[in-house]
Amino acid sequence: MRETRRNIAVLGSTGSIGRQTLDIIAEYPGLFNAWLLVARSSADLLIQQARQFRPHMVIIADENYYEYVRDALSDTDIEVATGSAAIAQAVTAPEIDTVVTAMVGYSGLESTIAAIKAGKRIALANKETLVVAGELITALLENSDSVLYPVDSEHGAFYQCLVGERMQDVEKLWLTASGGPFRKLPKEQLVTVTAADALKHPNWSMGAKITIDSATMMNKGFEMIEARWLFGIEPRGIEIVVHPQSIIHSMVAFKDGSVKAQLGLPDMRLPIRYALGLPDGRLASDCRKMTIEDMASLTFERPDFDKFPLLTTAYSAAHTGGTAPCVMNAANEIAVGAFLKDKIRFTDIYDIIEKTMASIAPIEHPTYEDYVACNAEARQLAASLI
Ligand code: MG
Repeated sequence: MRETRRNIAVLGSTGSIGRQTLDIIAEYPGLFNAWLLVARSSADLLIQQARQFRPHMVIIADENYYEYVRDALSDTDIEVATGSAAIAQAVTAPEIDTVVTAMVGYSGLESTIAAIKAGKRIALANKETLVVAGELITALLENSDSVLYPVDSEHGAFYQCLVGERMQDVEKLWLTASGGPFRKLPKEQLVTVTAADALKHPNWSMGAKITIDSATMMNKGFEMIEARWLFGIEPRGIEIVVHPQSIIHSMVAFKDGSVKAQLGLPDMRLPIRYALGLPDGRLASDCRKMTIEDMASLTFERPDFDKFPLLTTAYSAAHTGGTAPCVMNAANEIAVGAFLKDKIRFTDIYDIIEKTMASIAPIEHPTYEDYVACNAEARQLAASLI
């Protein structure tokens, strides 16, 4: 048992992963303390979380809600701030031990870089950070005391399968995918599906953006790129396998023919609990445990690259490298936002991403400023296609 509690910064505390992270912090009050909570615009929930967890500081990123949050917490000694510069500054506070990055999309990049430079332990739930800027993040990590622990369930599985192994013994990573809500739908019908249809994920309860990414399988493409940077494996060494029950969270195949898998119920609190327990060890829990019935019928199939073309797009962006994945991510964020507002069809998401990527030449070995400029350019271009 550690002598002092770990102070945790939860970036994106009002989102799905953020709320489940606070569940885990509440489950182990002797181990963890919520020190900083950051939300984009869900002011009421942030205020409620602040009253429950009594952090040192809260930040509401959207400045329009600053006074509202500040006034609501004026009877407490909780510090209230606003703006993205305040987030990047706050994560470097010496009191903070671990930063949980659970913001949505590109918005997680700046504060993750600040946390790495400050040498923090990072529980990475914002996969877009590595999709957009994996090359830069990897270089920064080499010159920092910071450690990245994956929160994504598949990457948590890889991490667990690789404990005690040598990377040169690895032949392949098997990245499992549920296949999303449209796995059985004929390809021709995808053009008519609505945001409401796409938001019905069969296994996982997640935020809206990632649920649409799961329906297009862009999420799996992102996770392939995330795995590539986390574990230093070339994209061709990562194979996607559809496993509709989401009980096996991913597998590692070794050169001697052996394969290791990590199993568990599809509940994001499992990988969050594992990441927060590192490197000390596993945290005992009264959560529901797996039974024989839960794993009675596990099936596997090949992904349909024809029906889900963004899988090919992701491999191609990973192969091109440089800013290509940044452009892909930016166009995806704009297209998914438009689809959620019923402004475009499901299959238009692919077209917008493809056209945006075809129009912007990738930059090799980008700097942070290159990513910022490229993200802005790609967003503008994608928006003009809607
Ligand atoms: Mg995942």
